[in-house]
Amino acid sequence: MSGQPTPMMQQYLALKREAGDALLFYRMGDFFELFFEDAKVAAGILDIALTSRGEHGGEPVPMCGVPVHSAEGYLARLIKGGCRVAIAEQTETPDEAKARAKRDGTPTSKALVARDIVRFVTAGTLTEEALLEPRRANLLVAVAPVRDGVGLASCDISTGRMELEECEASALDAALARLGASEVVAPEDWEDGTEDVIARPRADFRSEDGEARLKSIHGVATLDGLGDFTRPMLAAAAGLIAYLDHAGRGELPFLLPPVARGSGAHLAMDAATRASLEILEAQGGGRAGSLVSCIDRCVTGAGARQLAEDLAAPLADRGQIEARHAAIHHFHIDPLLRADLRALLRQAPDIGRALGRLVAGRGSPRDLGQIRDGLSEARRVRGVLEASADLPALLRDALTALGGHSALIDHLDRALVPSPPTERQQGGYIASGYDHALDALRETSGNARKAIAALEARYREETDTASLKIKHNKVLGYFIEVPAKHGDKLMAADSGFTHRQTMAGAVRFNSIGLHEEATRIAEAGAHALAAEEAHFEELVGEVVTARQAIAATAAALARIDVAAGLAERAVEGDWARPEMLDAPCLEVVGGRHPVVEQALAKSGERFVANDCSLGEDDRLWLIGGPNMGGKSTFLRQNALILLLAQAGSYVPASSARIGLADRLFSRVGASDNLARGRSTFMVEMVETAAILSQATERSFVILDEVGRGTSTYDGMALAWAVVEAVHEQLRCRCLFATHYHELSRLADTCDALSLHHVRAREWKGDLVLLHELTGGAADRSYGLDVARLAGVPQPVLKRAKAVLAKLEKGRAETGGLAAGLGELPLFAASLQAENEPDDALRDALEVLDIDTLSPREALDKLYELKALGGSTKP
Ligand code: ADP
Repeated sequence: MSGQPTPMMQQYLALKREAGDALLFYRMGDFFELFFEDAKVAAGILDIALTSRGEHGGEPVPMCGVPVHSAEGYLARLIKGGCRVAIAEQTETPDEAKARAKRDGTPTSKALVARDIVRFVTAGTLTEEALLEPRRANLLVAVAPVRDGVGLASCDISTGRMELEECEASALDAALARLGASEVVAPEDWEDGTEDVIARPRADFRSEDGEARLKSIHGVATLDGLGDFTRPMLAAAAGLIAYLDHAGRGELPFLLPPVARGSGAHLAMDAATRASLEILEAQGGGRAGSLVSCIDRCVTGAGARQLAEDLAAPLADRGQIEARHAAIHHFHIDPLLRADLRALLRQAPDIGRALGRLVAGRGSPRDLGQIRDGLSEARRVRGVLEASADLPALLRDALTALGGHSALIDHLDRALVPSPPTERQQGGYIASGYDHALDALRETSGNARKAIAALEARYREETDTASLKIKHNKVLGYFIEVPAKHGDKLMAADSGFTHRQTMAGAVRFNSIGLHEEATRIAEAGAHALAAEEAHFEELVGEVVTARQAIAATAAALARIDVAAGLAERAVEGDWARPEMLDAPCLEVVGGRHPVVEQALAKSGERFVANDCSLGEDDRLWLIGGPNMGGKSTFLRQNALILLLAQAGSYVPASSARIGLADRLFSRVGASDNLARGRSTFMVEMVETAAILSQATERSFVILDEVGRGTSTYDGMALAWAVVEAVHEQLRCRCLFATHYHELSRLADTCDALSLHHVRAREWKGDLVLLHELTGGAADRSYGLDVARLAGVPQPVLKRAKAVLAKLEKGRAETGGLAAGLGELPLFAASLQAENEPDDALRDALEVLDIDTLSPREALDKLYELKALGGSTKP
């Protein structure tokens, strides 16, 4: 039958319209139910049964549901699966609904409980402990594109931190890559928006509204005292706050005063650089194998989040960087202090996030307990730190932020039981002795319970029924129960018992005495709960009032954890404190790649340390040598050393002198990306073009096999041109790895360029890769050696060697691989001369890129070449 939708269905559909593309969790008793498409999506992600309920428009309505008490786990999976969820709760009890129906004159049997969406649960607006990853920040970002730039507002509502910044449109991708937000919102008419961006009304992004909201949230008449905020920043703040309003249905979470992020304050890195350096995530995705996972020795979640943030946004200011190094140094030279502090920190709960929940109105007694324990831990940390002489500035500042909570700690200590529960419904979290009235109520219900036990004994005696019991359940409350065969005795009119229920094997009764005691328990219980609630509200109020100071304490603890953790890592890996300079240099002695070194150590292998020495007169190193020789590793280790130093860490080297960089670029030639299935050469060139337009003399660039995404001579020509441009125009520090032997001729014309190669040696006919960097051009290409290692037969290798020799001789004679971009036609012409159209074997060899072949492909190619060779006269 396809008639009018039922009232419930009408209510559902109205709520669903409001929920938009969020899944609607529709509360029905002890379950959240989902219907229609929502049910299909959720059942798929959660792997739960899809059923149906009634019909709509003649079709059965798909349905699935999750129990309310375990909803968090399901929510977590839906959010991970990329969904947003609207929670529609019952806003009245069934009794209230019936009373309302009666007033309205509708049949009470059909009374529909009112429901409303109370909250949107989205990836960027989570505060629940169970839904958050302890070691990762959870950012919500709002983007406000304006005429001449973009405003960005980011906040982690689990801790209340908020930042505003402005950048050029072209730098937006890099900024978003740095932030790594869980959720991004932008005006609906924004053209660059990808699918992942949540479109919000344009009217939400008005800078005047942003300013007004920030002023009222932080109770200030002007924002001047908080920082220098531009119109685009405020427009983004407006969009962010409007979205928080929407998600929390008007209930705003905890927001600390916004911090304005200056554009030049950080080492700039774009998305491609971040991905290739695997800073927070490895190429395959996930934290394992990333830089952060290799260096993170923090003992608290807040410390780990701070470290990730430091690595994602290394500093550009020498003073700030050196302040962080000094803090590490303090812990580096004092192992006892370090161990003491780390032991204390390990005990400290995540007060930043507990505070976030309490201020957002989603806090629990357990969160209050965490604030109490965290603040007392902070006090102990302060005590230890205070006793340490010659504290550097960063730690002195932290020390100040750690103190000053004595009254609050004391109050929470007296008020709360040692481990308060997450739920408030049952009460029992306020300590006895804190409130005498509450103690009295508890005593009353305790006495009533004793009285009930006494009643049970008395009734057994009076009725001569040893099996009589007084029981309790949720529906009936207290009742007297006897086995069926004794039922009649109590049924008698003068027994004093009233019948309540007959079960299969038992009969249940009430009595006036029991009723009185049960009422005493219920009343005292209700009063006690109300009293605990009132104390809870008061304690939360006190914490909320102190929120800024508590947040500062949380931040100070995280800072100390980061510094002590990095000191620990430095000791463990024998790292050095880098010396920071303004001159554009990079002098690393005994440098290592921390992630590769760690991986090798696991299999008992040793990492070969290498030096790097870039300066104004020698700022571009061209690095050759065989495949698998360690070129990429060398490039990356130097980029990581610079990044770590500017993030305020020690570095994996025996010593390092590092000139501050403004930007860091890392690019890897396309064929390394083939596995990821991207349109390779195009991507490579787009990314390279970005460097050529953005790098400055203060930047550091690593280029790994750029140009190899296309056929040999195109690629070589491009690599050639890029090296020249880096040398002549950008004049920045650069490490360039290439297997194009020919590029070594650039050393003749580029005076600040020098040649280096990773060493390899033949030993008993085998190729041994030494992973050792040394000066000078690679003596030759090792493609044929690699082919031999792969088992290519001798005669084929011999033939290939002869062909190679001829090719190389030919190239040397045509010569004149002239320097200078303007003279490239000559270079191209030289290639043409070599490239006789009728020489099939030569053609085949020209396009053959030996270094990119797998052993298997190399073998196949050689057979192909041999077949060709048979039909041509060499
Ligand atoms: P290339 O870029 O020259 O092809 P890679 O840098 O990718 O070579 O290095 C290949 C492998 O060699 C690495 O995965 C690593 O296992 C090993 N390797 C690289 N550099 C070193 C080193 N300095 N010491 C020891 N092993 C190294």
